[in-house]
Amino acid sequence: MRVLRLGLRGSDVMEIQALLRKIGYNPGTIDGVFGSQTEQAVKQFQRNNGLTPDGVVGANTYNALRKFLLGYNAYTIKPGDNLYTISRRYNTTVNRIIAANPGIVPTNLRVGQRIIVPYGIDVVDTNIDYTYEIMERDIVGLKARYPFIETGIAGKSVLGKNLYYIKLGNGPNQVFYNGAHHGLEWITSVLLMKFVENFSKAYADRTTLAGNDVRNIWSQSSIYIIPMVNPDGVNLILDGLKRDNPYYSRLIEWNNGSTDFSRVWQANIRGVDLNHNYDASWNLSKQAEARYGITGPGPTRFSGPYPESEPESKAVADFTRSHNFRLVLAYHSQGEVIYWTYLNIIPPGAQRIAQLFADVSGYTLSEPAGTASYAGYKDWFIDKYRRPGFTIEVGRGINPLPISQFNEIYNDNIELLLLAAIV
Ligand SMILES: [Zn+2]
Repeated sequence: MRVLRLGLRGSDVMEIQALLRKIGYNPGTIDGVFGSQTEQAVKQFQRNNGLTPDGVVGANTYNALRKFLLGYNAYTIKPGDNLYTISRRYNTTVNRIIAANPGIVPTNLRVGQRIIVPYGIDVVDTNIDYTYEIMERDIVGLKARYPFIETGIAGKSVLGKNLYYIKLGNGPNQVFYNGAHHGLEWITSVLLMKFVENFSKAYADRTTLAGNDVRNIWSQSSIYIIPMVNPDGVNLILDGLKRDNPYYSRLIEWNNGSTDFSRVWQANIRGVDLNHNYDASWNLSKQAEARYGITGPGPTRFSGPYPESEPESKAVADFTRSHNFRLVLAYHSQGEVIYWTYLNIIPPGAQRIAQLFADVSGYTLSEPAGTASYAGYKDWFIDKYRRPGFTIEVGRGINPLPISQFNEIYNDNIELLLLAAIV
């Protein structure tokens, strides 16, 4: 990671600001700009942690911050310790420590025993630019404190980033949720990651989530989630085009000569729109390109040379083929709309489920028009499996939606996310 100091800006600065706020400091506005108030907060953190208070986040300070970013610390049991005193020290609960350490016997702690202690803070931040690196670390942090979740890799992006999946539950009813096929729509990754966190937390704490018995869902269903299908695109939006990008000059060309990708780029890093790259009326999607003036790779709507030509769409399709999904949700932004048909195909039960989703979310049901109805993930799923598949467009406004819409989007979708696993 780069050294952060006064005057710098970026998603990494924003992440540190959000963390400082979360653990009780005042870095000022969480805006990704390292100003004097952020510098003061860093100095205060350094003083409290025995570091040189220079206001610069270098290796030592970053190291001290990192355990808070991950949300847990490895702790070695000392004489006289019990889980209650440890939980007090870390501002957490005995329950959380037990959840993070399967097999631990609270009445029989051994001196020298190493345990995981989750801090009493949430892992997934919902007030920052959510890059691939932040998501990756959140997955590590969540897996450490909630070891009962399964995590894995469904494939790699063009630039070699992992296409992570997370599995909640161990029941026979398999469902699949994915987000951020489109770079601008990274807020859907935050939605799915926060869902993972809150679902896991409710499971560990034996509490309900939006009135639902999470343990019941856990035993009935297996919820597979790929929160970020297009990590190269998301990072291009949030961090800009880096010099070492192997597609550097081609990307500028594909972006009509502009180096600003932050408001336009939906595609993967090779300029293919992943949600126009599935094998469902792909030829029609290809033919429609001319109507939109698309002649090759670019920010949006280029279908690629052939279906599943891209490693990301291929990985998602392979993941689907290797499971037995009863239902899928593909999260996009924006419009507060649910698409639930493909051409004239209505899978059994889809209409009833679509109506339930509309009822719990307040979103409108719609049938797609034009190229939006071709070669998308849910189109392919419905076509191939004749089972319910949904594209859900969250939020309202112009992409990328501001993260300030997060709470509303989460509240609109939490019941839908739970319902989709049992409906
Ligand atoms: Zn989209």
